[in-house]
Formats: sequence, structure tokens, C-alpha cells
Amino acid sequence: MKRRQLLHRLLSLPWLASLPRLGAASPSSKPALDDRHADAARNPDSGPARTGLNRQRTRPRIAVIGAGALGGWTALQLQRQGAEVSLFEAWDPGHPRSSSGGETRVIRHAYTTLHHVQLAARSLQLWQQAARDWQQPLLQQTGVLFMAQSQGMDFLRQAIANLQQVGVTHELLSTAQLAQRYPQINHAGIVQAVLEPESGYLLARRACAAVVEAFRRAGGQTQRARVLPGLIRDGAMQAVQIDGQANTQFDQIVFACGPWLRQLFPDVLQHRLSISRQEVMYFGTPAGDGLHDQTSLPVWADFGERIWYGIPGSERRGFKLADDSRGGVFDAEHDDRRLSEAGLARAQTYLAQRFPGLDQAPLLESRVCQYSNTPDGDFIVDRHPQAGNVVLLGAGNGHAFKHAPALGELVAQALLQEQPLPAHYALSRFSSDSSARS
Ligand SMILES: Cc1cc2nc3c(=O)[nH]c(=O)nc-3n(C[C@H](O)[C@H](O)[C@H](O)COP(=O)(O)OP(=O)(O)OC[C@H]3O[C@@H](n4cnc5c(N)ncnc54)[C@H](O)[C@@H]3O)c2cc1C
Repeated sequence: MKRRQLLHRLLSLPWLASLPRLGAASPSSKPALDDRHADAARNPDSGPARTGLNRQRTRPRIAVIGAGALGGWTALQLQRQGAEVSLFEAWDPGHPRSSSGGETRVIRHAYTTLHHVQLAARSLQLWQQAARDWQQPLLQQTGVLFMAQSQGMDFLRQAIANLQQVGVTHELLSTAQLAQRYPQINHAGIVQAVLEPESGYLLARRACAAVVEAFRRAGGQTQRARVLPGLIRDGAMQAVQIDGQANTQFDQIVFACGPWLRQLFPDVLQHRLSISRQEVMYFGTPAGDGLHDQTSLPVWADFGERIWYGIPGSERRGFKLADDSRGGVFDAEHDDRRLSEAGLARAQTYLAQRFPGLDQAPLLESRVCQYSNTPDGDFIVDRHPQAGNVVLLGAGNGHAFKHAPALGELVAQALLQEQPLPAHYALSRFSSDSSARS
């Protein structure tokens, strides 16, 4: 059965039309995720538009599980496009154990895959719009500087070709230009660099909260609860378990559960998704120093044997430094998050070499986060193979935060306007499970 037919069949099932609706304020709601009244007067997000399925019947009722960057933006896009959306989160949007937690995330366009460049370009527009509409400094367009050592040159060449094709503003820098413009960087080993002046970083945790606020203002319902998948039968998930109670009222369910997705759907995901431990450090800059903050240094990445990247300033927390190499297997809920001595030593060695002015810089703070990795490094945005009313959304692979607005838009278009989901995010691409990570 085609997806379109399946969707129509699902929407005509009697239980979908006749069951009671979720109350405006659930008794189990807790303050951080409690519903608030929509304020139609002051807000560009108020009042759902009547589009797609909504024209033909009552508004589709959709549950989004997980209020990280992906779930939050998806809920907002669905609500804006006319669905009646309930967003469930076990803790808080952007909480410290989620993959969207912490201060900042890079937004860049340099990718070897064209669809990621296009997705980032669309997302940047949506982030800009959001920052303007919500009057919050969520997006800092400090520029992003990519530096390639010989091992990174294949990446850089392909990325530059893609930037040109999509029309992303960028500037090529020779090592001499790099040295002149950024004297705080030791350019030894760098072959070429490219600067994306309109890219930069996003305020991660603050953005997650802002997206959920916008969702509420648009009339969306939020509830703090752990939601588990229910029985799948006849091609559909028959119910979800909300705090242990079966709930059958939703037409569609989007599971955007970050690293928890793997354990919620082990049959589908356990061989396709691995969760890795990732360390992030914040180092102190010298007193009076203006060379290592965003007034004189953009976000940067250094492609060599390892990929190091950093966000100067980072909400005044210091000089953020991280190694993009995949760490060991990690349990997002139960493992503790202390920085390893080996990770710190590697970072200090790197820092002293590439940023000599930060040799001996003190470690101010550290965080341990996690990536959800697929074999090919791309996301999962697809219907559950056995349940046509369920979308699995995740596998951020360490780079999905920036793309959350456009991914949310894709899911909303698929659920409400019957647009196909892109094949490069389909679960079927793993059928041979032979793909190597790019
Ligand atoms: C160290 C680090 C650096 C990164 N750097 C970048 C970067 O520079 N740029 C970039 O674009 N991306 C970056 N990423 C990746 C990006 O942050 C993630 O891909 C993205 O935040 C994933 O968002 P998510 O919504 O899928 O997952 P999450 O943020 O983990 O959200 C999932 C949510 O679902 C909730 N949940 C789970 N199970 C349930 C349940 N059963 N019921 C209810 N709620 C549930 C969780 O509590 C959580 O809040 C980085 C990631 C890390 C860890």
C-alpha cells in the first residue's frame, strides 16, 4: 500500500475520530513544560493556518515525543501548518542529558553532501526569522572558518564545490591570508582555508526553550511525561503509553527522542544507531585578551587526522574546544559525565600547538554529551517500517542541531501535505547495512 493511501486509511479509522481529546492542562503536567495560554495578539506564531489535510477534515492530532531541537522544531512547524500538536518531554527542552543541551552549536554550510548544504541554507533562513520574530539573540553570525590540513583537503574541495553550487557566500583563504587575518592561529600544517561569513553559532539550550515557547504561543500543548511506543498492529501503532497509560487519540506520532530512540525501537534501530560519548571543554583566555573571543575570531574547524572545532566566547563561558572523533559507547540517561584525563590532555596539546596564546589556558568547565550515529553519518527521518502512523526522527550524528528547523518543515510537509520524505533519510538505505561513514 502506498503511503498516501495508508495515511488516508489511518485517518478514517474510527478510534482516531471518536476518542476524547487531551485536556488543555493535564493534571500530570509540571511547571517547566506546563501549557500556557496562546497569546494571539502579540505573536507571529499564533493561530494555526488551515492547510493540507486540515481543509478536508478536522485538524489532525499529532504527538511529538521529545522536545530537543528536532522535536521542538517539528512540533512548531506542524502546529503552524494546522495540526493539533501535543509535545511530550520527559525532562526539559535542551536539558543537560539531551543531545541539544549545553550553550552553543555551530551552524555552517560546508558539507560534502549537497542536500546538507541546502538543508543548512534553509535552516539558516528559519533561524534568522526566529531570532527576529522572538527577539532573542539565538543566532550569532560570527562566520565559520574551515582549515584543512592535507587529510582534510578532499573534504574542503568538495565542500567548496557545494558552497558554489548552492550559492553560499564564502571566501577562500591561502595560508598567507590566514596568517595575516588570524595571527592568533598557528597555521603550521594548514593547506587551505575557507570562511563562511554568514554562518556562526546558535545558542543551543536557549533556542530549545524559545522554540517550545513559540510552539505554546501557536496553541500547541506541552506535557512533561515519558512516552513509550504502544502495540503495533495492522500497519499502525495502536496507542502510545503516556506515564504508563495507553492513549489512542493521535493520528500520527513523531518520535524525536535523540539517543533514547535506539532503546525505544530496538528492532528497527539497534544495528543502525550507535551512541557515542563526546567531550566538550571551555578554556579561560588571558586577562584583557581580545584575540580569542568572537570579536576577532570566528567559529572554526580544523580538519586533520582528527577534526577539532571551537566556538570562541560561547556565551562568555570561555573558549569552547571539542574533538569531533567518536568516543566510546554511552548511555545518555545513566552514565556520568566527567571529563576524561586523556581527553583533557589531548585538548591541551592541541590548543598549545594551534592557538599558542592559549598554551597553559586553564580548564573552566567541561561537558560530556553524546552523538547518535548511523553508519553513513546521515539522519533518520522516516516512517516506522511496520507502523505507517509513526515517524522516527533523529540520528543527529553530531551535526543536526542547525538543521532542526528545516527537518521539522520536511516532517510537517510529509504529514500534512503528503510530500514524500527524502530517500537519503530513509531506513531502507541501511537494508544492506554495508554503507561506510563519510
Ligand atoms: C558535543 C556535541 C556537539 C555538537 N555540535 C553540533 C554543532 O556544532 N552543530 C550542529 O548542528 N549539531 C551539533 N551537535 C548535534 C546536535 O546537537 C544533535 O544532533 C541534536 O541536538 C539532536 O537533537 P534531538 O532533538 O534529536 O535529540 P535530543 O536533544 O536528545 O532530544 C531528544 C529529547 O527527547 C526526550 N525523550 C527521550 N525519550 C523520551 C520519551 N520516551 N518520552 C519523552 N521524552 C523523551 C529527551 O529527554 C530529549 O530531551 C552536537 C552534539 C553534541 C553532543
